[in-house]
Amino acid sequence: MNEADSEGIAAAFRRRGYTLTDDIKKADAVVVNTCTVRQKAEDKAISQIGRLRVWKEKRPEGKVFVVGCAAQKLGGKNIKHRFPFVDEVVGAKSIEKFEDSLIAQLGPSPEGETEHQNIYRSPQTAYTTVMRGCSLKCSYCIVPAVRGPAVCLSPEAVLEDAAAKLKAGAKEIVLLGQTVNSYKYGKTTFSELLKKTLALPGLARLRFMSPHPVYFDDAFTALLASEPKLARHMHLPVQSGSDRILRLMRRGYTRGAYLGLLERLRGAAPDLAVSTDFIVGYPGETEQDFADTLALVEEGRFSLAYCFKYSPRTDRPEMSATISEAEMEARLEKLLAAVKKNSRLVLNERIGKIEEVLFETETYGRASGNFAVRVKAGGTPGKVEKVLTAGAEKNTLNGKIL
Ligand code: SAH
Ligand code: SF4
Repeated sequence: MNEADSEGIAAAFRRRGYTLTDDIKKADAVVVNTCTVRQKAEDKAISQIGRLRVWKEKRPEGKVFVVGCAAQKLGGKNIKHRFPFVDEVVGAKSIEKFEDSLIAQLGPSPEGETEHQNIYRSPQTAYTTVMRGCSLKCSYCIVPAVRGPAVCLSPEAVLEDAAAKLKAGAKEIVLLGQTVNSYKYGKTTFSELLKKTLALPGLARLRFMSPHPVYFDDAFTALLASEPKLARHMHLPVQSGSDRILRLMRRGYTRGAYLGLLERLRGAAPDLAVSTDFIVGYPGETEQDFADTLALVEEGRFSLAYCFKYSPRTDRPEMSATISEAEMEARLEKLLAAVKKNSRLVLNERIGKIEEVLFETETYGRASGNFAVRVKAGGTPGKVEKVLTAGAEKNTLNGKIL
């Protein structure tokens, strides 16, 4: 979501004639888009802002803008007090105001509109936000507090944005929202939004992130079964394999319900790759709770899993960490090892099969299941080709274009 916001901010600068630079010495403005989902992210943002002090001293006319979730949490006053050289702070809830209030400070650039260029993804892939904020109340999560309740964009706005990105050369669109599959605008449901997006000219593949396990319905599974342009991959965060912890987290599903969902989704798309997120060391997590999470890695046949140590995001005493840092680290290590082993097994199952690969370069692309694929030659950037895979090295499949 933050990557998408940064792309949006960069696009706003471009429309006013500015270009991106990797060389901070040449910059007229630096925008620090901050995250606060875990304390570590917030700490990183703070030290990044701190490092700009020297830049600003050398370039007093340069602007420093701090935006995003940590800006929302800490507040403008607080940030400006700690870092008086910061020109403006815009929290995640008012990021749309960015264009007017901030870029205006720089004045118009003489260049005129500059060329689009993705920061994070290859030129083939573009993000389209469909929903801002989140209305769920997962106990560990700061997102609803810093981004506000869920607000869906109109289907017209979503389609207009996606169409513009396809026109500019994207082949793959990623629809974004914190609970993206709960999308509802008037009568338009998530599945209907997918159908409308799938009909846009120039689209080769459609992804979305992140769906929440409680919002999938039969209309979606039917669409998944019938629509090959819908990617054969889903990032479906589970967080824990223990029913007790899932209840404390207020996730709204059990381990069994999650596994049942995976079965239904794989029933509709047998080659569906599923990746996930886990949190280890949730307050009160026992050895047994952790063992349940560990066992889920294999049972869920996840292609990939991001594993996070629990990070308290509130001062409420019942939400402080109860697992020692050493134990938390030990559990994380075990989980990462299990994920690595399992991901390799899942990848190996793909060897000798035909993958639909969207090429980013002549030799590299991504399969519909989101696996990285390498060939010796022959790929065309922006085109989908069938590749027969022959092996796997590190996390990458290799093979030949058919
Ligand atoms: N909306 C998505 C998740 C967004 S946050 C969903 O509900 O699936 C991204 C990930 O950060 C989460 O899936 C979770 O694994 C992790 N996360 C969120 N809060 C956290 C915390 N307090 N400590 C550790 N990890 C956290
Ligand atoms: Fe946070 Fe995701 Fe839960 Fe919303 S659904 S509260 S973003 S973890």
